Order: sequence, then C-alpha cells, then structure tokens
Amino acid sequence: MQRRDFLKGASAGLAASAAVALQGCSKKEMADATSALPTVHWRLASSFPKSLDTIYGAAEVLVKRLDKITGGKFQIRAYAGGEIVPGLQVMDAVQQGTVECGHSASYYYVGKNMAYAFDTAVPFGLSARQQNAWMYYGGGLELTRELFKANNIVNFPGGNTGVQMGGWFRKEIKSLADLQGLKMRIPGIGGQIMAKLGAVPQTLAGGDIYPSLERGAIDAAEWVGPYDDEKLGFAKIAQHYYYPGWWEGGPQLSFYVNIDKWNALPEAYKQAFEAAAAEANVNMLAAYDHKNPIALKHLQAAGVQLHAFPQDVMAAAEKAAFELYEAEAAKNEAFRKIYTQWKPYRDAEIQWFKLAEASYNNFIEK
Ligand code: CA
Repeated sequence: MQRRDFLKGASAGLAASAAVALQGCSKKEMADATSALPTVHWRLASSFPKSLDTIYGAAEVLVKRLDKITGGKFQIRAYAGGEIVPGLQVMDAVQQGTVECGHSASYYYVGKNMAYAFDTAVPFGLSARQQNAWMYYGGGLELTRELFKANNIVNFPGGNTGVQMGGWFRKEIKSLADLQGLKMRIPGIGGQIMAKLGAVPQTLAGGDIYPSLERGAIDAAEWVGPYDDEKLGFAKIAQHYYYPGWWEGGPQLSFYVNIDKWNALPEAYKQAFEAAAAEANVNMLAAYDHKNPIALKHLQAAGVQLHAFPQDVMAAAEKAAFELYEAEAAKNEAFRKIYTQWKPYRDAEIQWFKLAEASYNNFIEK
C-alpha cells in the first residue's frame, strides 16, 4: 500500500468505526479501515531492572510485537523499574494515569489487599500451567479483573517464571529446628509463613541481597531460579541450594493498563495488545525453561550442593499457608471471594496433574 493511502484516510473520526468494519469486509475495505487507525504513544513502567532480562524482557516482547502488528502506529516505550516510576509503585502509577500501562508482579501489592497475590502466586498454589488454565478458562481473569477494576486497571497475564528455587542457605537445613531464628531474605506471603515456622524473614531489594548474605547479616536468601540466581553470584557465599520454592509454584507477571486509556483504544489495538500480552506470557516461561537447565549445570560445576527441603519443613509450611488463607478469608471479603473459587479449582487441577502428568514425569525423569 502507498504511503499516501495511509494518510488519506487518517482522520480521527474514522478510527472508532474502523475496527468494527474489519469483520466481513473486502481486502480493500480492510486496508482503508486500518489506514484510518490513529498513532498512539504510550509509556510502560516496569517493576523490574534490565538485569532481570527474562522478566523485564516480557515488556520488550509486547512492545515489539505491537509495533509490528500495527505497522508502527501503536508505540509503547518501556522503562525499567525506577526509571520513571519506582519499581513497587507501578500499580499506583497506572491507576493514576501517570503512565498508560505497566508490567509488575501483583503480589507486590498485598499491602493494599492480600487478594492481589492470586494474580501472581500464593504459597502452595498453582503451577504455571495451572495458573494459565485458571486465568484463561477457569474464571481467574474475571475474578482478578473485578479486583483491579476498583483501581482503574485492566490486567493481563504477562509471563511466568515457572516454579522457583527455594534459595541459598549458608548452612544445611536438616529439619524444621534448623529454621529457628534463621534470617532469610524472603518477601511477601512466603515470608509470613517462614515467620510462622520460626525464621526471621527480611525484605531486601535484589542489589542488597548479595552483600547482606556475604557479611552474614542474613543466613539465607531466595531470588528466582538458576538463571537469575547465577548472575547474582550466590554460589560463592552460600553453597546449599534448596528446592522447591514452595511460595512460588508458578508466579505470574502481569501487564496493567489504565482503564480510561484502554477504553479509548480502537478495537483493533485492543486485540493487538491482548495477543502481544499472551505472546509475552508464553515466551517468558519458554525462555526460563530453556535457560534454567543450562545455568544449573554451571552452578553444579561450581560446587553448589542441591537439597530438597525436608518433608517436615514442607508439611509445616503447607499447613501454615492454608491456616493463613482461612484466617484472611474470614476477615477480607475480596480475598474470600477469590479464595473460595480458587481453592476447589486448584484441588481439581492437582488431581488431574497427579495422574497423567506426574506419572509420565516420574517415569522419564530417571
Ligand atoms: Ca522468588
């Protein structure tokens, strides 16, 4: 198509009707409709530093795909955490319209309402695949969107790390008794559960973890998994690497869009955004599943010792987690509404995965 054809039809009045016209129209009509779409410039605030390249990278996947789909007309510029918005204030910035959209982890905002954790992960919750099932088919998207609507935000799944590792310990953990008084960098609900088990949880930003662990201000630290953990160099100062990260069985990242900005988009751009977000969601998990085994080999070659958490630790943590959810559901209506739908969904997913998936894995993983 000629450049002048783009310009000819580019009046704002045509934009709203353009997307409607996409259905059942000829190639010529479709081209005219697309050419009528406006140029849109948005800013995206990420909660994440560029050094967490796989998580931060979801924003890049989104903006590049939108640029390609719309022939450069829907432009989003991504900013790393702290560049234009502090990493933990992305939800507020999108709510207020300071930026049109963001990329974050909703469990950062459990201080506003613990129910936000369901949009990321709760301890002993869903795996990445189960989270996708719940979000896309199981009512999760509707339930979390209802929660976000009060904050003037529409949310989209925007990546998943898969089950994380349980972190780096200076000394071996042989039983629950070894957690008593142990100072561990573990934020969020996982930290609350660790506290119930007798540990002393700490919240430290990524850059502060290594020096704290090195000088012994903390005894243990969790971060993500082999790929991201290797870059922080924990293997040099804490050789015991535990699994699984039971507090993050399939943590989902999310894109947030300000509702007013969303409603002002032409339908074609909404469709493009939804498709690009879904691509970023799948892409992150694939990237981690590719990168983690390679990094794990490096760590093992460096002498890292892998350990499963003792069964008494796992069992006590699971019990404490569901006690915490029941207590929260009793006093928090938003949490209760999601939890009462989510819990039986989770249990049914687990029964299904236990059958074909687990037996297949158990056989091939020898
Ligand atoms: Ca983590």
